[in-house]
Amino acid sequence: MQLTCLDDDPRMEPTLRRFAGRLGHDVRYHANASAFKQDILSHPPELVVLDLELGRETGLDIVKWLSQQRLQLPIVLLSGHGDELLDTARRIASANGLTVRGAVSKASMVRDLPPLLAAQQPSTPPPPPPSGMLAEAPAQPAALDGPTLAGHIAAGRIEPFFQPIVAGDGTLKDLEVLTRLRLPDGTIVGAEQVIPLAEASGLIPSLTESLFERLLAAKATLADLSLDHLSVNLSVAQLDIVLAKALVRRLVDGLAGCCDVRVELTESANLADSQAVRELGAELRLLGASLAMDDFGTGYSSIRALAELPYDTLKLDLCFVAEMFDSSKAERLLAAILILSQNLGLKVVAEGVETLAQAQWLREAGVDRFQGYLFGPPTPLDEVMSRFGPKT
Ligand code: C2E
Ligand code: CA
Ligand code: CA
Repeated sequence: MQLTCLDDDPRMEPTLRRFAGRLGHDVRYHANASAFKQDILSHPPELVVLDLELGRETGLDIVKWLSQQRLQLPIVLLSGHGDELLDTARRIASANGLTVRGAVSKASMVRDLPPLLAAQQPSTPPPPPPSGMLAEAPAQPAALDGPTLAGHIAAGRIEPFFQPIVAGDGTLKDLEVLTRLRLPDGTIVGAEQVIPLAEASGLIPSLTESLFERLLAAKATLADLSLDHLSVNLSVAQLDIVLAKALVRRLVDGLAGCCDVRVELTESANLADSQAVRELGAELRLLGASLAMDDFGTGYSSIRALAELPYDTLKLDLCFVAEMFDSSKAERLLAAILILSQNLGLKVVAEGVETLAQAQWLREAGVDRFQGYLFGPPTPLDEVMSRFGPKT
């Protein structure tokens, strides 16, 4: 493999040549940015090793230059400034379209650099949903507008899919209800397409009502699963508070004796400042529903919002899980969030768990509920039943 390095520190050259030589790589080393640029254009390498501290022109300037040249080369970033700067630089490089194979602190270079030089692939892609489960159809760009969606809702085509939320030993504890639209030809349209359109066209009340009716109709089947909670998402900003309360009350009453209802609220702009939303949160708890802050750590789902509403559960956004092993900073941030939630007596559900390594780390850090493709994608209820239901 050919490897091209830019680092103005001459002491780096023998070290890098030693590491790369052991792996049989050919190294082209530059201490000067313009020589490096010329060389990259005439001899595009298979891997770039780039120091961030270069003097006047920084490694970030080189990152932008590589991006402008549309050079999709895998890159390893080096810095003597430690993990925090490296973590931010890695994000900047990724946002510029570069494939960042790793970011290494010079202090731990002897340990961390050789494995990155040896790796052939930038990272492993996320695993497909478990076999035997109905995989989600890829998002179909169906032509959908407000009036068409209104027609589908009226025709009863809104359908609940259910994603397992499991305990540390893999036993099913809860299900999260996720909206799907099933078109007459059988195509499934995902929530990412349906929900924003419903929110923008005033259709959230009728969609939510239609979805909840389907849940009530499935009560007998759901009861066989002995769930702790059935978790539903509520677009609070688009729902009249009185109507939201009535919808949740009907669901809580209707599912009594089957499972408790948990309402997941996603914060949107200044929601926590709204007296009406505070009242709704309190009313929902009084009705007997549990209250989860969805997508914690993103947007307005913030620490301050935790103080404003009576949440008992925090759903850790999947971006934290996806990035947890990218840097020691990401890992420490996650550990700190878990300590915070334990101190506040909040239950934590980790979303987007895709690998055993993530699940194991989270379990050891005290997380007790897990959701993600590792445990099952959202599916129709009969799929859940055949996997988790009573065996006859
Ligand atoms: P959410 O509440 O954060 O739901 C989790 C999303 O993550 C789901 O997307 C789910 O399919 C996806 N997911 C689950 N496990 C994994 C994983 O391991 N890796 C990755 N990368 N993704 C995973 P979905 O079903 O497309 O829903 C998108 C969003 O739409 C939901 O995000 C929620 O905010 C909203 N939504 C869904 N159903 C409803 C609904 O009935 N009402 C309202 N108001 N919003 C809904
Ligand atoms: Ca949710
Ligand atoms: Ca979420």
